[in-house]
Amino acid sequence: MNRISPRRALTIGLTALLLAALAAGLVLWRQWAAAGEGSIPAVSVTLDGGELLQHGGSWETPVLGGLLTRRLDPAYPALGAILTLDSDQPALAAAPADAALTRVRVSDGGGTVFDGAPDAFAAFRFPGDGDYFFEVWGSLDRGSAGRGDFYFDASVHLELPVPEPEFSLSPSVARQGDLLTVTVRHVPDGTVPSGQSGLGYVRFVPAAEAGAYTALVPVGYAREPGGYTIEVTAGQASASLPVTVAESDFEVQQMTISEEIADETVNSQAANWEFHITVVPLYDTASDEQYWSGAFLQPVEGRISTPYGVKRYVNGSATPERHGGVDIAAALGTPVQCPGDGVVEYAGFLQLSGNTIVLEHGGGLKSYFYHMDSLNVATGDRVEKGQLLGAVGTTGYSTGPHLHYEVKIGRESVSPWPLFDGSSPIFAAAGE
Ligand SMILES: [Zn+2]
Repeated sequence: MNRISPRRALTIGLTALLLAALAAGLVLWRQWAAAGEGSIPAVSVTLDGGELLQHGGSWETPVLGGLLTRRLDPAYPALGAILTLDSDQPALAAAPADAALTRVRVSDGGGTVFDGAPDAFAAFRFPGDGDYFFEVWGSLDRGSAGRGDFYFDASVHLELPVPEPEFSLSPSVARQGDLLTVTVRHVPDGTVPSGQSGLGYVRFVPAAEAGAYTALVPVGYAREPGGYTIEVTAGQASASLPVTVAESDFEVQQMTISEEIADETVNSQAANWEFHITVVPLYDTASDEQYWSGAFLQPVEGRISTPYGVKRYVNGSATPERHGGVDIAAALGTPVQCPGDGVVEYAGFLQLSGNTIVLEHGGGLKSYFYHMDSLNVATGDRVEKGQLLGAVGTTGYSTGPHLHYEVKIGRESVSPWPLFDGSSPIFAAAGE
């Protein structure tokens, strides 16, 4: 039996250790080398398909079963990505699928406009055209193959497409006495739509929605049933909106009035002239502000002695006059309430219509109150729905205490009932 000398045993042991150390070193060297920059997985981030550029990140790989870690902090080019976008909600995406985005930040010249998680960013809208700086952070975890963080950014130039004006009309079938609403959306900046119609007045005022305008168009009681159009222009765009007018049934009334009252009022040239120069010019005025909102209040409760649109033969005349308002009979002194917010364009006494109020509700929609006993408001007053305007009387061309209440737009009188009960399509069109 050979005996190994202690010296030889030591040599063998040391050699074995050295070989083992060399082997371990080789494994370490190979794993370490394998964890170089080439091992960092490629990540890409896009915004509406446009590539952002990576401007930061690090990668760590476990070596020797996690005994050691190789960390890499590569240098990234200073060059920036520039993206031009046409959507205020661009889609953000990252690849490969296991690249998790963790934070998004959007800033403009004034500071940060968004800073949060990608989920919240999906609901974010860029505030408008302009230049932004877009940044995104994320991470990637590949377990024993390593993990890391990344940072991408881009300069974003947002230029939203300019939407074409949109024209709509509600309703497209109307009855004599109704009101129509024409709406134009996406009106080019710095322009106001204009309109024309055989129905009469078309005047646009700004609507609640940005860039939108509305016009109330009257269908007068005397308008012939049949087809009409409303021609509307907004900037370079225009539309021809068809309307069908259907007939309403209007009552026929015989009225007797004393010759004395008739001579002082309806037969008086002076009384007619005074009305003509005081009230008639107000038919064509309009405020650019819409004061009214919601259904109108009936200004006085009482028996309707003469309805809207009635054909009325006075003292047996051969041709009827038409009644543009409603006559509401009520006791002398009954309070008259303001039907909707507005501005008093006239308050005073006129021989023909007695104590008279003309109230502008905006866009040319007006209330006219005649024959009042007394007035609680003055020309120029800003008044609110429900406010006391005055008292019922029998002044001017009147046979007994009543309020003549009339709603006009331009020179056409419309029925107030759909305004009182909220059924008028103008409320739906106004989003109410
Ligand atoms: Zn009347």
